[in-house]
Amino acid sequence: MRRLLLLSLVAFSCVARGQEPAPVKPQEGAAASSKVAPATVAAGKETAPKASDKKETEKPSAAAPGPKLVATALPKDKKAVTPVKHVVKHVSAPKHKAAASSANAAGEEGSHHEGEEHAGEAHPEGSHWSYEGESGPEYWGSLDKANSACAVGRMQSPIDLQDATRISQPELTFEYYPGEWQIVNNGHSVQVTVPAGSFLTVDGHQYVLAQFHFHHPSEEAIMGKHFDMVIHLVHKDRKGKLAVVAVLLSDGLASNLIQTLWESIPKEKGKTETISNKLDPMMLLPESRAYYAYQGSLTTPPCTEGVQWFVLKAPLTISEDEERAFAALYPHNVRPLQPRSGRVLEASK
Ligand SMILES: [Zn+2]
Repeated sequence: MRRLLLLSLVAFSCVARGQEPAPVKPQEGAAASSKVAPATVAAGKETAPKASDKKETEKPSAAAPGPKLVATALPKDKKAVTPVKHVVKHVSAPKHKAAASSANAAGEEGSHHEGEEHAGEAHPEGSHWSYEGESGPEYWGSLDKANSACAVGRMQSPIDLQDATRISQPELTFEYYPGEWQIVNNGHSVQVTVPAGSFLTVDGHQYVLAQFHFHHPSEEAIMGKHFDMVIHLVHKDRKGKLAVVAVLLSDGLASNLIQTLWESIPKEKGKTETISNKLDPMMLLPESRAYYAYQGSLTTPPCTEGVQWFVLKAPLTISEDEERAFAALYPHNVRPLQPRSGRVLEASK
């Protein structure tokens, strides 16, 4: 009886703070560190340089050098261009073209590796995770056997990005195309599913863009510093291997694309809506393709490892109002930084 009452209370409190008792589709990871508390990051790890000192030199800027987009663009298709004007500042000119057909469908969010898909039906009880309290990140590993990697994994995400090894990059080649997006507030984030046909190619290896979603603040940190938000663009290859591209967001100029997305968020949680404008995911990328790369995991249960991470150094901007609008839904959908455990962090030149 007591337990029942307790469960009810927990369920109610979840609803009350905007979390679903039964997550519809969990996100690929999220980190939990306050953007103003880099101290927790540094504790016990690499000697962290003073964030305040390093900030200026280390902070990625839109002007950061890096591999440029190799636009394998086909002829521009004006008809496919979104009516949204001046979408995101510092964004490369969109390379519109007729939607390519996808080799294989990766349309739905992530893959079976992606946390989202396991939540709900399969483990209705265990999948009830959140970003705080008794179902928060420190308990994810014990909520369900399937989540054991959250507790014992040694290659978990997110991490603090510092002491990188400089490499001559393979370039990240994005071939994204406008399409009909579906948006859902899934109880853990706002997530957008894109139609198959947009690709990321790295060193000849092709991944299909499946979905993207947001975290507030950014899960990843650079030299201990978190950004205001981050977009995680989730791709998968033919075998289901995931590659996530993180695009950091800083307060600054408004983004019409983000504004359009926020206006399209369905009022009802878990309900998916189609955005009528055809929007272009190229707008979600900064001009510079310079990046950090490392091997990590989903940042949400089941914290599956084997995820290739690319964190773009150059941030995009959103307005403070746009940040606040997301924060009203998800003030802190972030998993804490995870130990690096000897992993190599690469940085493209
Ligand atoms: Zn994420």
